[in-house]
Amino acid sequence: MTGRGQASAGDLLELVRTGRATTRGALQQVTGLSRATVGQRLDRLFRAGWLREGAGGPVDSPLGGRPSITLEFDDAHAVVLAADLDTRHARACVLSLTGEILAEHGGTLVIEDGPDAVLGELGRWFAELLEKAGHRPSEVCGIGLAVPGPVDSETGRVVQPPMMPGWDAYDIRGRLARAFTEHTGAPGVPVLVDNDANLMAYGEQRTGHPDCSAFVLVKVSTGIGAGVVVGGSIFRGIDGGAGDIGHIRVPAGAQALCRCGSYGCLAAVASGGAVARRLVETGVPAASGSDVRDLLASGHPGAAAFAREAGRQVGDVLATVVTLLNPGVLMIAGDLAGTSFLTGVRELLYQRALPRSTAHLHVLTSRLGERAGLVGAGALVVEHLYAPERVEERLLALGM
Ligand SMILES: [Zn+2]
Repeated sequence: MTGRGQASAGDLLELVRTGRATTRGALQQVTGLSRATVGQRLDRLFRAGWLREGAGGPVDSPLGGRPSITLEFDDAHAVVLAADLDTRHARACVLSLTGEILAEHGGTLVIEDGPDAVLGELGRWFAELLEKAGHRPSEVCGIGLAVPGPVDSETGRVVQPPMMPGWDAYDIRGRLARAFTEHTGAPGVPVLVDNDANLMAYGEQRTGHPDCSAFVLVKVSTGIGAGVVVGGSIFRGIDGGAGDIGHIRVPAGAQALCRCGSYGCLAAVASGGAVARRLVETGVPAASGSDVRDLLASGHPGAAAFAREAGRQVGDVLATVVTLLNPGVLMIAGDLAGTSFLTGVRELLYQRALPRSTAHLHVLTSRLGERAGLVGAGALVVEHLYAPERVEERLLALGM
């Protein structure tokens, strides 16, 4: 926030939205603004429909005197669209501004068909989902998209993604905004694109571990990727490469060819795809990580043994990750996230990492499951659009 006595309408909205100050008196106290100035700034937020008076009735004022009315972020004035692309499957949904999923759809969408076809189809899904949720296209304030590749967050484009042939440097934001307009007739809305593991980590951290200041999620499906949330924000590195642990070379992988074209990557020996290939070699049909997931769910002993071995390989790499970042939570998500894999991770992790760096570490499996990426994508859009500096711009654009 800007200096004392200089808080903007956006700063006030953030204080209310995060629950740090929810009455006029508390806002005066926190910001140092006069009662009249707080009133003027709140008035703009009320007129925009972004703020409402709480249903709970008056509470005691921190400044004494008359009890004051509580203020709330009005989450009914807009909705968010989100989608999470995997290599052969996608999920999409309509979310409320507070992250509640209002309508959801999952289905086949093959990333190798290329961005034009895939994003066009997503536009159609979004139009149907809005109808199902009973919301008008004009209520959509933004779209969040999770993709299985490294993303340059400045441009929203993927950078040499091994699992997304034909998508390198493609204008994903522009195409998805256009697809939304084509299928709904509404004007384009802001589109944010991020890596799937990043958004899963963000979704899980915000909803389940908001006080954890260093949070790591590892997604093990067709590939392997990690998302890191530090101090409540996604840590992306300088150009979106942070957490791309699937292509770290491991000794066991020397003979294994990775989708990136190199030999020896962690993903080539320990991903869902790698476990599927091991199963095929032993005569068990499995085409992908999701087939391995089904086998694990049915208690297949061969799948469990390979998953545990994959967990050991990943655990060895995670010992370094944990030593570097000292996270409070290390969450395992994706097709292989289950008891066998987790057992393997723990075996190597505790053997290789310093006891000091794992003393307070919780190693957990995903809580939101297949919805983690959607929830994270929705939250990213809301945090972006309601950030104090953007609130000011948007209020001016609305003529307020
Ligand atoms: Zn690789």
